[in-house]
Amino acid sequence: MIKKLKFQELNISPDILKAIVDMGFEEATPIQSEAIPLILAGKDIIGQASTGTGKTAAFGIPALEKIDPTLRKPQVLILCPTRELAIQVSVELNKLLKYKKNISELPIYGGQPIERQFLALRKGPQIIVGTPGRVMDHMRRGTLTLESIKMIILDEADEMLTMGFRDDIETILEQTSGDRQTVMFSATMSADILRLTKKFQKNPQIIKIQHEKLETPAVEQIYFEIEGHMKLELLTRLIDIHNPKLSIVFCNTKRKVDEIVSDLQARGYSAEGIHGDITQARRNNVMDRFRNNEFEILVATDVAARGIDVSNVEAVFNFEIPQDEESYVHRIGRTGRAGRTGKAFSFASRREIYSLRSIKRYTNSTMTQQELPSLQQIEEIKAAKIMADIKNLIKENNLEKYIAIIQTLLAQDYTTLDVAAALLKKSMPEPKPKKSAPRESREGREGRDSNDSPRRSSGGFGGGGARRRFPRRNQVR
Ligand code: ADP
Ligand code: MG
Repeated sequence: MIKKLKFQELNISPDILKAIVDMGFEEATPIQSEAIPLILAGKDIIGQASTGTGKTAAFGIPALEKIDPTLRKPQVLILCPTRELAIQVSVELNKLLKYKKNISELPIYGGQPIERQFLALRKGPQIIVGTPGRVMDHMRRGTLTLESIKMIILDEADEMLTMGFRDDIETILEQTSGDRQTVMFSATMSADILRLTKKFQKNPQIIKIQHEKLETPAVEQIYFEIEGHMKLELLTRLIDIHNPKLSIVFCNTKRKVDEIVSDLQARGYSAEGIHGDITQARRNNVMDRFRNNEFEILVATDVAARGIDVSNVEAVFNFEIPQDEESYVHRIGRTGRAGRTGKAFSFASRREIYSLRSIKRYTNSTMTQQELPSLQQIEEIKAAKIMADIKNLIKENNLEKYIAIIQTLLAQDYTTLDVAAALLKKSMPEPKPKKSAPRESREGREGRDSNDSPRRSSGGFGGGGARRRFPRRNQVR
């Protein structure tokens, strides 16, 4: 079992806990569960975990707890290899600081006018997030002093060494008090890293998340590399094509669950969500209705979906890649139950690709990559379904009434081919010109690639009328 704790179990102060709730995190990731207590206890640590496992909050939360808000001097220094990573860390820290108004944080990196940073530094931010080069620059100019630093965090330490920051890092570490706490995160434990550890850390505790061999269920696993803003479009296209009777969409946060539910509902899908903030009674109610096929798409977080046993879930969608392989295995195991076949679709944005790769490695899974299905493909599938329906109707041979009506048209010099084509057109509406959906998310709108958006426009899609029990907006019957 990978250890995962609730944030409430981690001795975190109420203000930060409240911010974590707002961020929609339901439980701590494995690296967070291990690292937060040790860093809070003042230990030097070296943490090894792959990308996407939540390392920022793993060091960010305890670092914030260590700040003395009354002292307006840099107390925590976080070094990151690149400007982009520094910005990402800074953004995440600011979210954690939402209810701590008397603590401030400043990112300093190359490329930003240094004069602006002088001014900002003079205001006395307690946390500095920076690239080693720019931090050194400020130290040389005397605009940043490290005398009050009690904790230094090296994020992606191996990356910083590879980029040639060794000397800068050593200089910075040498200029801080020997009492400081030194926290390091690195994806690998090279000899270089160990040398740095030996020189600058005191009795460091090594945290390496243990991975167990996991049995993956016999489910077809498919993944997509897709920009975040296109994920909703992908989800709806896949639902339209595969038309699963019941499906579960997994998200990493409660906020995302709420967002996807309203996005899907706005597009006319029958979707409901469950997560840790929804009362148990209401969750039970939602689950009962899901089991009774009263709606088709359940959107859930990992915590809320634990123990869900619904036998005929035909597809699982990982709208976001989970932070550990155990959650992945658990998610995809929600489909293909009771000997049925199931499909699991994972949507990985550029940042999530690494997480997906490590999940693939630890679960020894075979995953096939697919591309966003084009509108042309969707049209073809739609047409094929309608043709199949038509063939069936002809076979049933119960058409006298309709033949009589068509004959009145034929008497007016229309050909049977024209009439048939017109009827087909009527049951297969053209994609509508772009019009924003009522509650469409900002990303959805930006990401729309053309005036496409099959807003669930055809009843013919659904593998024959009888299966779709849920009338949909724009649906033609
Ligand atoms: P890493 O530094 O390990 O690559 P990050 O700290 O950048 O990972 O986190 C990756 C993503 O996961 C971020 O979007 C972050 O907000 C999110 N995240 C972090 N911790 C949790 C959690 N406990 N629950 C859900 N999402 C989380
Ligand atoms: Mg990181």
